[in-house]
Order: sequence, then C-alpha cells, then structure tokens
Amino acid sequence: MPPNRSNEIYQYSLISALMAGVADVGIPASDLVQYSQGLGTFTTLEGELTLLDGKVYRSQPDGSVHEVGHDDDDKATFVMATKLAPDTIFRTKVGNKDTLQQKLEKTFAEYKNMFIAYRARNVGKGWKVKIRIIGGQQYSGQSLSEVGDAQKLFEYDDVQGEIVGFTSPSNWQGVSVAGEHMHFLSNDRKYGGHVLELEVDEAEVQAAVVSSLYIDLPKGGVFNNVDLMVDDESIRKCEGS
Ligand SMILES: [Zn+2]
Repeated sequence: MPPNRSNEIYQYSLISALMAGVADVGIPASDLVQYSQGLGTFTTLEGELTLLDGKVYRSQPDGSVHEVGHDDDDKATFVMATKLAPDTIFRTKVGNKDTLQQKLEKTFAEYKNMFIAYRARNVGKGWKVKIRIIGGQQYSGQSLSEVGDAQKLFEYDDVQGEIVGFTSPSNWQGVSVAGEHMHFLSNDRKYGGHVLELEVDEAEVQAAVVSSLYIDLPKGGVFNNVDLMVDDESIRKCEGS
C-alpha cells in the first residue's frame, strides 16, 4: 500500500510516460480520497483531476466539473497526491503564477532540491484564472503534447477558489513537471482545471516541504512498449511551466 503519512507524495506514473502517450491504465480515482490534495489526469488523457479535502473532482473538456464517487470507475493515469500538514501558513499578495512560485521558493530557500506541496485559498477579491482541460486521446498512444495542442481553454474572472500545487526540483523533469504544477477549483466546485495563468490579489497559502516520494509505475498496458525520454521543451510547452 502506498504511504499516506503527512507531507509525503504519492505519485502514479511519470510525466515522461504521458508524453509518450501512456494513458491506457490507471488506479481507481476514488482510492485517492485518503489524501488531502492532489492533481493529475485520467485514462486516455480526458479531463483534469483535482483532489481537495479528500474529494476527487474531474474537470471535463466541456468545462464542467463533477465529483468522482466511491462507485465510479474513473481511473487516474497520472497523479501526485499528499496529505498536507503545513510547515507554514501565510497571507500574501500573490500577483500571478510566477510570483506565487517565487514566494514559495523564497519561503523554502533552504530546501531548493526538495519538493513543496501547497494550497492557496482566495481571501478577499476574486481571482482571474485561465485554465486548460485536456480533451482526450484521439487514438491510443497519442502523446500528451499532441493532445495538449487540442486542449480546451477557459477563463474566469472574479472567481473564488483554491489552488492545489506541487513544486518539483528541476532535475526531476520527466518524473514530474519541473517547477510549478497547479490545478484550480472554484469554491462552488463548478469550475476547475490545470492552471495556465493566474491573477490573484491576496491569498492564504499553506505549504510544506516534501522529502519523501512513493512512485507506482503502470503495470500492464503499453508502459513497457514505449521509449521514455525527457523532452524538456515539450513538457514546458504542454504543462505551462
Ligand atoms: Zn496539470
């Protein structure tokens, strides 16, 4: 069983596997409720997964969001999840996605080769958020970058919500997304997805250093049929970091 001690990351599959089009098998998304937060995607790269407060949400390519129930057979083909016990909680003027990332890096400057898990919640004024939701493979084995070219984009103004994110050290590119990777969910749970752009006034940030990861590689399916590579440029283009 994967660990679910506080501030450890459980990860299923690799970003480099998604880039190679491996999205045919996964773990039951409903099993992730043991974690407090996380992000990922589903089999066939259809939709975005956001886990918040032990509930798994699926953003569909039409922009709608629904909670994955205990009996649903939705499978996560990539996920990073954790049970966050914040080392620090602070309120800050965020600005945009880059400045949020810089604030986190500054807060944890002594831990530059560690992972950071965080969540940032709206306080005060609404946020402007641009998200993407990937629309699914057109054929088995289609790579994430090709699927990403047909992603659906949504922009929301003055929305109240929360961000779930992980910061990964640069040398982990391909295992996860080097730098920031964040998903958004509105407070009413009607909107959400992978964050491309952000304009935030003030936010409450809860964050912790993560020094322990548990990674499950996909068993069965096409995982062992592909050549895994670290395609830095495509990952940056596709994951917006
Ligand atoms: Zn994402």
